[in-house]
Amino acid sequence: MQFDSQSGEIDQKSSPNLSAALIDSLFEASGPLLAGIVFVAFAASLTALKTGQSMLWACVLFLIVAGAIRVFDLRRFSPRKSALTAEEAGKWQKRYRVGALIQAAAIGTWCSVALLSNDDAVVHLIALSVTTGIVAGGAARAYGRPSIFHQQAMLQFGPAVIALAVRGTPYYIAMAFVSAAFLLAVMQLSANLHRIFMRAVVARGREAALAGQFDTALNNMPHGLCMFRVDGQLAVMNHRFGAMMNLPPAITQSGTNARDIVAACVAAGSVSAASGELIVAAVESSQAKEIITSDPDMQRNRSLSWTTQPMADGGAVVLLEDITERRSAEAKITHLARYDDLTALPNRVHFRDEIERLLADSQHAASLSALLFIDLDQFKQVNDTLGHPCGDQLLCAVANRLREMLRPEDFVARFGGDEFVVFQQNISSPEDAASLARRIVERLSERYRIDNHLVEIGASVGIALTSPDGTSADTLLKNADMALYRAKADGRGTFCFFRDEMAATVEARRILELDLRKALANEEFELFYQPLVNLKSGKITTCEALLRWNHPVRGTVSPVDIIPVAEDMGLIVDLGRWILRRACMECMKWPEGVSVAVNFSPQQFHQRDVLSEIRYALEVSGLPAHRLEIEITESSLLHNTQLTHDILSQLHALGVRISLDDFGTGYSSLSYLHNFPMQKVKIDRSFLEGIDTDRPLTLLRGVARLSADLGMSVVVEGIETSEQLELISADGTVTEAQGYLFSRPVPAVRVRQLLNASHGNRMQDQLIVVSSRSLA
Ligand code: C2E
Ligand code: MG
Ligand code: MG
Repeated sequence: MQFDSQSGEIDQKSSPNLSAALIDSLFEASGPLLAGIVFVAFAASLTALKTGQSMLWACVLFLIVAGAIRVFDLRRFSPRKSALTAEEAGKWQKRYRVGALIQAAAIGTWCSVALLSNDDAVVHLIALSVTTGIVAGGAARAYGRPSIFHQQAMLQFGPAVIALAVRGTPYYIAMAFVSAAFLLAVMQLSANLHRIFMRAVVARGREAALAGQFDTALNNMPHGLCMFRVDGQLAVMNHRFGAMMNLPPAITQSGTNARDIVAACVAAGSVSAASGELIVAAVESSQAKEIITSDPDMQRNRSLSWTTQPMADGGAVVLLEDITERRSAEAKITHLARYDDLTALPNRVHFRDEIERLLADSQHAASLSALLFIDLDQFKQVNDTLGHPCGDQLLCAVANRLREMLRPEDFVARFGGDEFVVFQQNISSPEDAASLARRIVERLSERYRIDNHLVEIGASVGIALTSPDGTSADTLLKNADMALYRAKADGRGTFCFFRDEMAATVEARRILELDLRKALANEEFELFYQPLVNLKSGKITTCEALLRWNHPVRGTVSPVDIIPVAEDMGLIVDLGRWILRRACMECMKWPEGVSVAVNFSPQQFHQRDVLSEIRYALEVSGLPAHRLEIEITESSLLHNTQLTHDILSQLHALGVRISLDDFGTGYSSLSYLHNFPMQKVKIDRSFLEGIDTDRPLTLLRGVARLSADLGMSVVVEGIETSEQLELISADGTVTEAQGYLFSRPVPAVRVRQLLNASHGNRMQDQLIVVSSRSLA
């Protein structure tokens, strides 16, 4: 709808409803119209009677005919029930215009005839006053169509103005002016009325549209909504609110009291009486507040949020939201964040919070509690051999056994991997904790049946006790962890209490780790080399690279102390890479017949790109693959058997040789010798202990012969005396020997000199000289 506020006119084509409303307004006031028709006919009759003029009687007739036409028209319009169409509105407007103009012409004619045809002052008065009244009444009635009214007024009053002027006397002329001004004023008045009417119509339309939109929004929103006036009475309630609260329709009507509505909610079982009181109080005091309620009927398990907000002009809005789903999602997230998904035990975060609380509670009671840190032994093997699903089942079984063993006041959690923690509260002595630890180790070491497999694992436990002057959760955990470390070092399957000196050991270890990290960057490492001598030729065939750490304060540190720490830190991969490259480059400086042997720790051997590492080291150094020997221990062969086999085969294909180091110290499984493609076995030095007695010698010779029969060369490590050398070389199965008798591990420069000096000679004799020199 377009409204021109200047002209006050409306573009009615764009609004058929509006034109219909305007036409209605014209026909609407039919009472005054009829009264006017009768009244003017009566007045005209009076003038005709007073003068007896036939012209005036003719005018009376004209007025009656014109009036009859309009009455007839009005009667035709009135009985309509439905709203006008645009077309009908146009038709009725035309009919109205014709009727109105005919009647206006009749009035104008009568008034001018009455003024001009005689000098009777009474007649003049009647004609002029009645016409004036009719025009004024018309302005108030026909404001709906100002254009029709203007024509009507001109026809009614225009002739009177002219007649007054035509009479020519000064007073009549003056009266003509006054009347003309009145005519203009009335026309203006009608235009103004029209404008006011139009504004009202447009405003009403806008309000109706807004109310419609508001209603749609209100009843389609997901929340329930109520608005209360200042006096606490309901102004608006949407359908959703009624539906959510299960309210009878009568209560949802405007004007109902907030207290009654809440009482109905309580009666419908949607909120409890206590919550209802809170809600009423919030509405009545117009406070901004959120109240969470749950259905009194627990089975419905519904949570609702009631938000009250004060309104600008007093009163309050209440928003009602069903937060059941949101709450259960939040509860799930909280559960996930605080519990272990697999075993449903509390996780690290939850455990820590909980014991922090328990410790704070028990601080004044001066009670003794223990924290037991449990680590499963051989769990990794189960995971690797039977697969993760079995590993998961095993962890659940462990969790169940732990749960069964504990008192209700104890608290068990899973810290991830195969680590479990128990908090044992209010014990009478440390022996209680020891006894629980013992039982845990025993119970967890009993067999498990997992998917038709019988599985056996062990457990180690570290115990930390609370102290009377208070211990924090973190300290307890740290101490128990240190004790666990010791329990594992003590051979696993056992428990250990935390002692203060452990902290010092751990600190020392921490410093060692820091130092190690720096050492690689600062190139503090060095490789020493120890020769392996062929017993038949007496020549050096290989030199084994052995790591040394020249620490500015610690002095020369043994690899026995470095390698395990580097393995734990994961530093071994970087360190191993450095050793391999350095050893290959060093070997390039030796006579062609001499190879280099490099020790590989299991972690290094199982790194993903071990093959490319080895290829790269050979490539950058230019060392032929057959001059490189990789020494691995039995533990490298334990895991991922297929993968290990593949790596060994590929190394073999590349031309690199593999030695099995320290044979006889581990599982000494002879099947390894048979199943894996290896070229050399190094029999550990421990075989030489008591070699002068028969049994060890027989054992050594047996292993040596078996290895030789499988096509491998045999090395005996740790030869220190000529007697030992004689004994092992007697039957001719041992191919090579290594030991202080020939040479201690020596720096690179020394080994180079050694190799050059002995080049072409029988080195066995020479080396004995060298070694006795270096021993000295
Ligand atoms: P291993 O590979 O069995 O090396 C032989 C060890 O025995 C060396 O000790 C060597 O000095 C020592 N040895 C040699 N002959 C005799 C002897 O006649 N009598 C005695 N009592 N000992 C002898 P080292 O250098 O202290 O190395 C110890 C272990 O550390 C090595 O045993 C090896 O397992 C590991 N290791 C050394 N260097 C490396 C390395 O670069 N990488 C890796 N992963 N491990 C290394
Ligand atoms: Mg070795
Ligand atoms: Mg060895």
